[in-house]
Amino acid sequence: MTALLEVEDLRVAYGKVEAVKGISFSVEEGQAVTLIGTNGAGKTTTLHTLSGLLTPSGGRVRFAGQDLAGVPAHKVVALGLAHSPEGRHIFPRLTVEENLLLGAFLRKDADGIADDTERAYTLFPRLRERRIQPAGTLSGGEQQMLAMARALMCRPRLLMLDEPSMGLSPIMMKKIMATVAELKATGTTILLVEQNARAALSLADQAYVMETGRVVLSGSGERLLHDDSVRKAYLGEE
Ligand code: ATP
Repeated sequence: MTALLEVEDLRVAYGKVEAVKGISFSVEEGQAVTLIGTNGAGKTTTLHTLSGLLTPSGGRVRFAGQDLAGVPAHKVVALGLAHSPEGRHIFPRLTVEENLLLGAFLRKDADGIADDTERAYTLFPRLRERRIQPAGTLSGGEQQMLAMARALMCRPRLLMLDEPSMGLSPIMMKKIMATVAELKATGTTILLVEQNARAALSLADQAYVMETGRVVLSGSGERLLHDDSVRKAYLGEE
């Protein structure tokens, strides 16, 4: 079976500094895959490159059978690869609902959009309560919900989530990760970048550990949760 996303020997540089130094991984349809690792390991850079926001200096990315080389960001979204970015990037002056509908900007099917808006509000009831409120007045956790809901509005074949739990209280973090698990359970294919390694590994089918631009370890989430080096370095265990 060919994977939905195949990344092979990907390299990305900022000027002379190579941030991603030849990584390979894949995501099968229906899987949740996580990239974990130290700060500055190149995880966000990898997601930005897959989204078409950065141009790789080497390697190959195939998504749904298509080579993504040179495909601009808006076309990547149209192919079904959605990105909920680190730091959320919501539009603070627009209402919650306007932000949500921006996620459907490539679609013309009004009925489908209405169905998906309803689905988003069912998944995140808090957003329904606040739908006419400027998004900038939402709490951090609510903004994260909005960023995820907006990414889902293009009915992606692959949802990329960059640090969904960043800056959230433990309770809100649990809620967000439970929603990620729910999305996976309902068939959404997910590529998750996460600092909270325990939460990410607990829900991931497959996981890759990145350090300074390289994949240093990979395996099932379950296996890495019990790996000694992962436990020491990422799970805070002795
Ligand atoms: P974190 O978990 O801290 O967000 P990360 O694994 O997502 O880390 P990246 O944000 O991808 O890491 O950064 C990888 C490396 O590239 C870092 O050394 C970073 O300083 C560098 N880098 C990121 N963005 C730029 C940029 N715009 N210009 C130059 N260097 C950059």
